[in-house]
Amino acid sequence: MKNEIRAYNNILELVGNTPLVKLNKIAENLTGNYYAKVEAFNPGHSSKDRIALHIIEQAEKAGILTEGSTIIETTSGNTGFSIAMASIIKGYDCILAVSSKSSPDKIDMLRSMGAKVYVCPAHVSADDPRSYYEVAKRLHKETKGSIYINQYFNKLNMDAHYKSTGPEIWEQTGGQITHLIACSGTGGTISGTARFLKEQNPNIKVIAVDAFGSVLKKYHETGKLDTNEIYPYRIEGLGKNLIPGATDFSIIDEFIKVTDAESAHTAREISRTEGIFVGYTSGAVMQAIKQLDELNTFNMNSNVVAIFPDHGSRYMSKIYSDQWMEDQGFLNTETVEETQEVQY
Ligand code: PMP
Repeated sequence: MKNEIRAYNNILELVGNTPLVKLNKIAENLTGNYYAKVEAFNPGHSSKDRIALHIIEQAEKAGILTEGSTIIETTSGNTGFSIAMASIIKGYDCILAVSSKSSPDKIDMLRSMGAKVYVCPAHVSADDPRSYYEVAKRLHKETKGSIYINQYFNKLNMDAHYKSTGPEIWEQTGGQITHLIACSGTGGTISGTARFLKEQNPNIKVIAVDAFGSVLKKYHETGKLDTNEIYPYRIEGLGKNLIPGATDFSIIDEFIKVTDAESAHTAREISRTEGIFVGYTSGAVMQAIKQLDELNTFNMNSNVVAIFPDHGSRYMSKIYSDQWMEDQGFLNTETVEETQEVQY
């Protein structure tokens, strides 16, 4: 008798069910137990696979998307990659309107995944008809039967995490999670995951990580958008200069800010000490944990779950490049020496 073939029907069946991995060396001097939800195990290498698939499947159920329809979004990042991947399998056209600030590497990557990419000028205001927001909106209007994912304002974003990330963490921790720490960009990850977890146990503390230069923390504290908080920063995918409709601020207990430099170093430290090759915002989450530990947030019985959103390979020319780190002023001589190649 032949053994059965155990294969997935297509790559999308691998979205979700990412592993929870205990953090060892990097957490050695911290109080409590630390676990990372490693979202790079998604086939598109980030948590955005979950929202792309969920939003597309909901549109299919509603009869909006049928074979040959078009999916539109404004992103050069992880979400764009995930939508492009799902579009290939499901037979949709994928149009991504991106800013001319996006690196050629990223644009090539999206085109390699079959997406049609419109590169729009970066230095025009959001309401300028040439901006990537306006181009996406126009294309959506002009293309019959298209959907515009609009991840910052789409409630299905948090719903994807409510239905998948939250239950997975609850099950993987046997209900013993005490703290959830995650980055807030659109806010979908932290809001949806936290809502599910707090429904199981309202005592779970939910801490969102924000960037210096972003308005989220101040908005959470005051209910007001303070434009003085806005200035450029390097971390991509974390923080925002507007208030995203996809964030449920009421479910988040606290926001904490992290710097570009410390987050970059901490991402490199995770890769070096845990062997988990992570992106910039995973460094931000871990950096936030270190700061929270110094503030005595945790005790010996704390079971802290950190969400590591994506894979390090997307940051080779950034945080994993010594040259880039040096150009940003992030490297001191000590760390340069430590990473120098040995000449034989
Ligand atoms: N990290 C990275 C690398 C991201 O691309 C994003 C999404 N913008 C986030 C973190 C934040 O996730 P969310 O949008 O669900 O808040």
